[in-house]
Amino acid sequence: MPSKQYAILVDRLKDLSYLGSALGLLHWDQEVHMPPAGAEMRARTIGYLSGRTHEQFLALDKDKLLSKLAVALKDKDTAEAASVRDVWRSYRREKKLPVKFVREFSELCSEAHVVWAKARETSDFSLFQPLLEKIVAMKRQEAEYVGYKDSPYDALLDAYEPGATCAQLSPVFSELRDFLQPFIRRIVRAAASQPSLPDLKGTFPIEKQKAFNALVAEKMGFSHAAGKIDVSTHPFTMGFHPQDVRITTRYDERDALYAIGSTVHEVGHALYEQGLPVEHFGTPLGEAVSLGLHESQSRVWENQIGKGRAFWTYFYPKLQKAFPKPFKRVVFEDFFRIVNQVRPSLIRTESDEVTYNLHIILRYEIEKGLIEENLKVKDLPGIWKAKMKEYLGVCVPDDRQGVLQDVHWSGGSIGYFPTYTLGNLYAAQFYAAALRELPRLQTDVAKGRFAPVREWLRQKIHVHGKLHSAQVLVKNVTGEELSSRYFIEYLKTKYGELYGV
Ligand SMILES: [Zn+2]
Repeated sequence: MPSKQYAILVDRLKDLSYLGSALGLLHWDQEVHMPPAGAEMRARTIGYLSGRTHEQFLALDKDKLLSKLAVALKDKDTAEAASVRDVWRSYRREKKLPVKFVREFSELCSEAHVVWAKARETSDFSLFQPLLEKIVAMKRQEAEYVGYKDSPYDALLDAYEPGATCAQLSPVFSELRDFLQPFIRRIVRAAASQPSLPDLKGTFPIEKQKAFNALVAEKMGFSHAAGKIDVSTHPFTMGFHPQDVRITTRYDERDALYAIGSTVHEVGHALYEQGLPVEHFGTPLGEAVSLGLHESQSRVWENQIGKGRAFWTYFYPKLQKAFPKPFKRVVFEDFFRIVNQVRPSLIRTESDEVTYNLHIILRYEIEKGLIEENLKVKDLPGIWKAKMKEYLGVCVPDDRQGVLQDVHWSGGSIGYFPTYTLGNLYAAQFYAAALRELPRLQTDVAKGRFAPVREWLRQKIHVHGKLHSAQVLVKNVTGEELSSRYFIEYLKTKYGELYGV
């Protein structure tokens, strides 16, 4: 009986996905191709289609189809049941928010985004402060509408990382923070006494860089027939269907490594999208588990694999050949040290894999404090400066390079940041499991054989779509719950060797 009803639900979900694809393409075009004067019309088109999508989404239950299925399959342990549970979860969240509230919040964010951009440009937090106060107040309201057990912040986290809570994250993040602070201090001290490294700047024609990046992507297993690489200011990945996955990267004529890092990261995301099961397109079983899980797939390629010795053993000779100046005269060991340089810095998106998570933990603590009403928006610039000094030992000269640097809050995204660190932790834990199960992983990668590790990730993670929650998937794949241990061990081994700490 549920199967027939489920088939009707799947048809409705597919219709929603077609709308989602159309919307996605408009967003993609906006970032990649659209002429600047098209912005206003595009915003209106996207607004209209988003409204229609929202109506369609709520119509999933027009004849009580969804709610009946949710009751019938409540405690069942089948793929259909998992799929229905996920749709039901998002449906109920959406239903709990009054339409008027959603509209007001979206208008507030449009205004806040413009003001934030101006505030950042002039490095003046006081411009943005009243809008951020309103955003925080509305996000608290959202948490009340949605409901929560312990912390209102849990209700916000849940939108990005279903099932994650402060009770789960706080101890993991604290352990990581307490390890990182002294570890980074030791690296900084050790780096001061190391010989200086060669300069890798030069002139790298963009067309040649594009060819090199396309080669890296292809070797990793990115299908150019089912995907495309374009250029945008902020790199991103967008999957319309496993057969059509778009990524973007960005190039710097003076720095060949600038693009490679972001390409490898986005290809990691793209491999997840290209690896989702086509037969489940449109349903949760054909979707990525969560933002944190998605990020784990980009990070494992960007960091554990893409900044590893094996990866560069294979690619460095190719890089030297493509760009003899300056790489021909730089020995592998120096190059490898440069790729893995640790430097506490001001800007999150430019930070290395060791210091990165302290940028996130700082944001998590601030967001949680704001939503739990232990911190006030007006105090944020000072809190930001104090924490940056304490965690990373850096002095924040102005708000532009401090509290105003990220776009997230102006778009109403509170509860999003932790998914980046979750991604790093999942990545290290998955990679440790892959190394246990694939003893030849490093040797294979050093020879340019990326299929074993890619297929391992695909079979263990990608093909399951949203069949399991992030928490269950991590346990299934690695044998234990999420822990910061594997990430800490990974850093200790790698940077212990590089810096002698
Ligand atoms: Zn990412």
